[in-house]
Amino acid sequence: MEEIEPPGPGAPASLTAAPHPAEAGRPTLAIDIGGTKLAAGLVAGSGELLVRHERPTPRAMPGQARLVTDALLGLLDEVLDSTTGPTGAEAPFGGVGLACAGPIDVVAGTVSPVNIPAWRNEPLVATVAQHLAAPSVRLVNDAVAMTVGEHGRGAARGAANVLGVVVSTGVGGGLILDGRPRLGPTGNAGHLGHTVVAVDGERCPCGSRGCVETRASATAMVREALARGWDPRTAGPAIPDGRALATAAAAGDAAALAAIERGAAALAAGIVSSAALLDLDLVVVGGGFAAAGEVFFAPLRQHVDTLRGLSFLTRLCIVPAALGRDAGLIGAALAAQPA
Ligand SMILES: [Zn+2]
Repeated sequence: MEEIEPPGPGAPASLTAAPHPAEAGRPTLAIDIGGTKLAAGLVAGSGELLVRHERPTPRAMPGQARLVTDALLGLLDEVLDSTTGPTGAEAPFGGVGLACAGPIDVVAGTVSPVNIPAWRNEPLVATVAQHLAAPSVRLVNDAVAMTVGEHGRGAARGAANVLGVVVSTGVGGGLILDGRPRLGPTGNAGHLGHTVVAVDGERCPCGSRGCVETRASATAMVREALARGWDPRTAGPAIPDGRALATAAAAGDAAALAAIERGAAALAAGIVSSAALLDLDLVVVGGGFAAAGEVFFAPLRQHVDTLRGLSFLTRLCIVPAALGRDAGLIGAALAAQPA
């Protein structure tokens, strides 16, 4: 852990963001909220995940915000209960990093995740800060957290211009440009899932149409496979989710393969467009569906190869995330640490 000197008189303003020396050696409490799962844990300054707990995101409709909020606060209590000593006198963390599926508003401290319809302009930063009695909570988009985690400790280490992509319930994205995270004024820069790749495409829950997410999310690929006649019960009593779809595709199921092919083509279009816009070096792909492996990455790379034309796009590499399901938590913690 890097030694952090307390700022003295006349210290540069940038140093005033350093934590109090009493907090410098303490882990960061990291939270990662997605449409499928809620995760929370403690992350050491070295980036090592010390404690991890998770639970499914409750399926809640508009008007049922409390259902999701209570599940999250219960999860935070679980993390703290597992780490606080018998006296419970001292909080076991020094800062809080909160990653949430987008869109978010880092200025207002609110979240409106497309895939958690119960939360619209939910004042999550205030709720979490109050529950934890934490003086500051750093909110970041969950895909940004994954990207920061992979850039700091994972597959994108050393790359200066990176697009991080999360393929899960939805499709998220985050950007590192010139070696630094680029968040944008509201924290939503890099939101790849809602870039449009089919102008006449189907309506997206975000209000647009033909977004990457309408074809390349695990949800969309499962829906497409079912429409093409995929029967998830062929391989036993499987529920039709991304994992079952990947298994079916790996076994050669034609409908599953076609749905993944369609999703990979849409994602490749979004990736190549982003690379043309931003002069990228590397794309790191994570999220639950990245675990599908080559059955997804092979068509994705093939479509990227087909679509990239300009010479500066030829260096672009597509790599799987290295930190797996922990990238969001590690990145949320890194994002909460002072620059
Ligand atoms: Zn959209």
